[in-house]
Amino acid sequence: MTPDGPTRTPAHVLILGGTTEGRTLAAALDGRPGLRVTSSLAGRVAQPRLPVGEVRIGGFGGPDGLADWLRAEAVDAVVDATHPFAAGMSNNAALAAAATGVPLLVLRRPGFAPVAGDRWHLAPSLTAAATLLPGLGRRVFLSSGRQGIAAFAHLDGLHFLARSVDRPEPPLPLSLEVLLDRGPFTLDGERALLREHRIDVVVTKDSGGAATAPKLTAARELGLPVVVVERPPVPAGLPVTPDVAGAVRWLEQRA
Ligand code: NAP
Repeated sequence: MTPDGPTRTPAHVLILGGTTEGRTLAAALDGRPGLRVTSSLAGRVAQPRLPVGEVRIGGFGGPDGLADWLRAEAVDAVVDATHPFAAGMSNNAALAAAATGVPLLVLRRPGFAPVAGDRWHLAPSLTAAATLLPGLGRRVFLSSGRQGIAAFAHLDGLHFLARSVDRPEPPLPLSLEVLLDRGPFTLDGERALLREHRIDVVVTKDSGGAATAPKLTAARELGLPVVVVERPPVPAGLPVTPDVAGAVRWLEQRA
């Protein structure tokens, strides 16, 4: 007790971020009385877009390291707002939550939805996408992220235009042009890009989200095939919400 009444430790929410949703959730919770919010980033990008509020950067050291962190920092709830393809972190979060009993919500935006006119080829992995490519085109727009480019490094007969936030590292395809950029992207911009570079096939992860969807519309308009790499599954048995509002509601219900 203090002279003014009982001391209250603020509830502590950990947001596993690196996404627009992670930043939006941090902003939505910012300044709420009695609430401490920590956003966690992997530290992959040289100049990340930082969420508002408290931020920690770098891995936890596997599921055990995360479990230790949750205990040491008295975390009351975790929201896994990582990218749909950050399966390692999501699995670690599930294991750490199970080990510590800390409630975990998965905030996962919906995937891209095909519409009439799309020429999609689904691939279960980047490796499978690389196998499909030679039959589909010669000039490839690769928007699957810096770390994914290695899966295409052996395709000597194809030309790649790869867009990523930071410069990719070897192994890389022989014929490669790198475009350093980050979303959101516009339909006009994507249309122009595909035309200027005479792209005849597009590769994307099924990331979902408005920021990167215009390339799919542009590909449809130009009649281009798109190889869509399917998402890894969300760890079993966890609650999942598709948007930030759902995550805020879930946290409010636990308050
Ligand atoms: P990953 O393969 O699932 O994770 C590999 C390791 O990176 C994890 O085991 C963890 O290390 C560390 N890590 C990942 N996310 C973290 C976070 N938010 N906070 C602290 N440590 C984290 O992840 P990834 O696919 O490389 O993605 C890394 C980050 O970039 C994620 O935060 C994700 O949201 C963001 N991102 C990924 C993609 C994508 O396409 N994969 C696209 C856009 C943004 P420890 O085991 O040491 O804890």
